[in-house]
Amino acid sequence: SDSHFPIPISPADVDLSQHYPGFFSSEKNDHRQAKVLLPKIQFADIGCGFGGLLVKLSPLFPDTLMIGMELRDKVTEYVKERILALRASNPGQYENISVVRTNSMKYLPNYFSKGQLSKMFFLFPDPHFKEKNHRRRVISLQLLDEYAYALEVGGIIYTITDVEELGEWMKLCLESHPLLVAVPDEEFGTDPVVKLLSCATEEGQKVARNGGQTFLAIYRRIASA
Ligand code: SAM
Repeated sequence: SDSHFPIPISPADVDLSQHYPGFFSSEKNDHRQAKVLLPKIQFADIGCGFGGLLVKLSPLFPDTLMIGMELRDKVTEYVKERILALRASNPGQYENISVVRTNSMKYLPNYFSKGQLSKMFFLFPDPHFKEKNHRRRVISLQLLDEYAYALEVGGIIYTITDVEELGEWMKLCLESHPLLVAVPDEEFGTDPVVKLLSCATEEGQKVARNGGQTFLAIYRRIASA
């Protein structure tokens, strides 16, 4: 239950030095590093599962801090260990990725302040097929307000699913939001992140192995009128 994981009272309360020790010098008198690098998280992988996307994104954006949010305790612990092992065998690398166990549907505003994020990922979220469970979906009109708040203008929400009905639902929600516009398909090719969506995560690889179809929806945060 929720009582088993700590919840920061505000984004300022998130201890970045614990997540990204390589980015934050522990020596009090060495302020140089902290000044040069941006001390804020910019990418969030919501429901990151086993962390495959973070691992692929890390070397592509080595100066960007990224976090995975995952509800399952054991899965989160696995991702923590995976990142520590990668750091140990590749000194200086994988310092920009981390994971937190939390319920992103409840506590996102505790982690991110207004306009902080430049990318949010929702890869193969749980479908919650029954109508009465649609409110549990991680993309909904209400939650999109929170996501739009956390995203900077120009920031991007990436979604992918192999469940056609969920794909339509996510598109419908995204399309109805006044602060989000679809990224045109023509732009997919120029964004190096797009090709990772279907193949970087464990769920994506499973779908690909089974020859399943996938449905993408990618939306950009625009300024309010
Ligand atoms: N994105 C990963 C991938 O593509 O391999 C995992 C996909 S898996 C089907 C969905 C994940 O979302 C699960 O690991 C689940 O525990 C997590 N999840 C579901 N609801 C969540 C919530 N409210 N907050 C954080 N994670 C959640």
